[in-house]
Amino acid sequence: MTQKLNIYNTLDRKKEEFVPVHPGHVGLYVCGPTVYGDGHLGHARPAITFDLLFRYLQHIGYKVRYVRNITDVGHLENDADQGEDKIAKKARLEELEPMEVVQYYLNRYHKAMEALNVLPPSIEPHASGHIIEQIEYVKKIFDAGFAYESNGSVYFDVEKYNKAHHYGKLSGRNIEELLTTTRELDGQQEKRNSFDFALWKKADDAHIMRWPSPWSDGFPGWHLECSAMGQKYLGETFDIHGGGMDLLFPHHECEIAQSVAAQGHECVRYWMHNNMITINGQKMGKSLGNFITLDQFFTGDHAALTQAYSPMTIRFFILMAHYRSTVDFSNEALQAAEKGLNRLMEAYANLDKITPSDKSTVEIAPLRQKMYDAMNDDLNSPIVISHLFECASIINRVLAGNDTIDAENLTLLRQTMELFMFDILGLKKEEKSGSGNNEAYSEAINLLLEMRMSAKANKDWAMADLIRNKLTGLGFEIKDTKDGFEWKLNN
Ligand code: ZN
Repeated sequence: MTQKLNIYNTLDRKKEEFVPVHPGHVGLYVCGPTVYGDGHLGHARPAITFDLLFRYLQHIGYKVRYVRNITDVGHLENDADQGEDKIAKKARLEELEPMEVVQYYLNRYHKAMEALNVLPPSIEPHASGHIIEQIEYVKKIFDAGFAYESNGSVYFDVEKYNKAHHYGKLSGRNIEELLTTTRELDGQQEKRNSFDFALWKKADDAHIMRWPSPWSDGFPGWHLECSAMGQKYLGETFDIHGGGMDLLFPHHECEIAQSVAAQGHECVRYWMHNNMITINGQKMGKSLGNFITLDQFFTGDHAALTQAYSPMTIRFFILMAHYRSTVDFSNEALQAAEKGLNRLMEAYANLDKITPSDKSTVEIAPLRQKMYDAMNDDLNSPIVISHLFECASIINRVLAGNDTIDAENLTLLRQTMELFMFDILGLKKEEKSGSGNNEAYSEAINLLLEMRMSAKANKDWAMADLIRNKLTGLGFEIKDTKDGFEWKLNN
């Protein structure tokens, strides 16, 4: 690797040089959405944060297997072990099959992610498709002596685990504190301690989503799916586990306990957490009336919005803050992001108007290096953006005749802007009008196929296949030729 990437590891509470388990490869697991409603800003932030990481790791030469799960079972209403399953509840209210709810919101989630230019992960496993793996995982924890059965449900014995290991190492909480802060809820008498968490829950008669197990007809606890699917697709030890800070406790803490109990060791080298988004200084919440879905942002159809904001404005807005900082949404902040993004896009378009000079008063290489340095410093996207604004200033100064640039620096300037704006930050030009421009359309297909060729040249078969399959799926016929490719659209 030519770049030395440092990332902040939540587990060690400091920045560390990223060294993968297997040289050249990265296993990345990110907790995906529980699909029972439309995506909102809180979904956009982890998706964009880890998309930035995914893009950058690939750019600096790693082959990345990115797993982002879909929670479609076992996530109960109060995020603990009580209440109705979030998806089952939605299904009951809307008189749908639970999997209809999942499919409906998953399709919408994918659409929103595509609009935000978030690359699809390598694998998107569903919790409901991995019940056997989860039951096997519970058995391992049972065999190791860290689980107990109670009335058909299986719970993790946190107190016993904490005697041998350290429960709370990720979140910094300790078991004494938890004893005083966790309230005994009704119906939890089957637990030995209020902080024990469910590995398997016996389903009551009304519960629709249920599977047979050695203990009861029931369903897995929410924390289990990530341990089981992480191990299945990335191995017993993998590189990076990410998610929102709201998942740090109990979800990720429980994942660590589960893997140590089942495998005898931790499974994750680096834990990464993005910070949260507030709306006008307040937490987002359905009851607070400030719950704005991504679609509502894109259309402007919400009382709290003074206008519509394009997906790229949302993406740019999120990237303007470092992922570990809080972000506060307001119309003013989004309008500032929109203006900033327009300024960068205009500057980029203005590159075409520049005629290179023999002599250059500007040097692009040091600026490019600073952008790499910022990315290597725990994905510091706001610093990258500030340097992109410097690129924009250079373009404006050259056009105004206050600076000159030679051909070599001009090429490097264009490449640098394209690399950081489009490839790494994942921004893209947005067409203002909806109607098709034939030339732009052909150029876009050519560009995709050129990307596919370069993916093939880099032996990135997954990307090459992805592009081919997506285009074929849209009805394009693609032929590889001696000199490159040919394509046509079949109707
Ligand atoms: Zn998870």
